[in-house]
Amino acid sequence: MTVHNFGAGPAILPKEVLEEAARAVVNYKNSGLSLLETGHRTETFQEVMHEARQLVRELMSLNDEMEVLFLHGGATLQFLQVPLNLLSEKGFASYTETGTWSVKAIREARFVGRIEIAGSSKENNYYSLPEQLHITPGADYLHITTNETISGTQWQQIPFDAGVPLVADMSSDILSRRLPFNRFALIYAGAQKNLGAAGVALVVVNKNLLGKTGRTLPTMMDYRNHIAEGSMLNTPPMFAVYVVLLTLRWLKGKGGVEAIEQHNEEKARLFYDTLDALPVFTSPVSRQYRSRMNAVFTINNPELEKKFLERCKAEGMIGVKGHRSVGGFRVSMYNALPLESVKAITDLMKDFANQYG
Ligand SMILES: *Cc1c(COP(=O)(O)O)cnc(C)c1O
Repeated sequence: MTVHNFGAGPAILPKEVLEEAARAVVNYKNSGLSLLETGHRTETFQEVMHEARQLVRELMSLNDEMEVLFLHGGATLQFLQVPLNLLSEKGFASYTETGTWSVKAIREARFVGRIEIAGSSKENNYYSLPEQLHITPGADYLHITTNETISGTQWQQIPFDAGVPLVADMSSDILSRRLPFNRFALIYAGAQKNLGAAGVALVVVNKNLLGKTGRTLPTMMDYRNHIAEGSMLNTPPMFAVYVVLLTLRWLKGKGGVEAIEQHNEEKARLFYDTLDALPVFTSPVSRQYRSRMNAVFTINNPELEKKFLERCKAEGMIGVKGHRSVGGFRVSMYNALPLESVKAITDLMKDFANQYG
């Protein structure tokens, strides 16, 4: 049976990437060694790190002000490391409160300094995004979560014109669409959704904004140390970086961000058009904020919920159950998910609606 992986993360990876990664476990590039038993200071691994960094630069069209880092601790450590590096001792930062992940980012940032909320969609159960932002002049930065993985919203209009440096958690939509990446002060993303394997986070930061907080940071917390050491301040998560490299090569081979954006649009269109045409299913997310990466939806008759999930399971559709905090269903359509998988689940949905609608 073909398995379709709609899981939210760690998520689907291209088959070619998995096969090549598997070879590297046993014998990396015919060196007779596994990449897992190779020193991180060797030329072999330096090349991996270098190419991964270069491919990020190329795929995002980064300029020379932007630095690319591969760090441990996931996006969750970035919730803390970002304010440590960008929030000045006497200043404040502005955050949008748009779902589970931004709430966590806000909670960590408050350990560091003063945070104001620029806009919230809490009263709408995070199924929308704030229509307007209110930012007190002088904020050190504005933080957004470009794609809220759990409630299924995605910023289509990025607030570049807010008049403050913009920081974005892009964990679940990094490199899924064209964006003017150089206009961000800082971008971070855990790799395990759209970029590779768990264990590494990508950070892209404008180096001109660093070192201005008035705060002395412990070594591992200071981005400038990671920049100086090329993301090798200590032993990097080597294999996770390697899987990122393979995924970036795959993405480049597919035609890069522009091509994948079209592919992602096509998948999302097919999914939401099907959903909207079937009265038995509903999306709680406001139409203009729907995520192209994570489609969140429910079934109108709660008694059918279990039946639908059983049917998905029987047909090899993995990871369709919604996050435990919101229930319902979630279909994640990351870069590596083929259109065929979306066809498969929309066919199943139509069939299910015919049977029970
Ligand atoms: C998954 C996710 C995180 C957490 O990532 P970790 O790498 O597990 O820390 C943060 N933000 C968003 C938007 C996510 O989807």
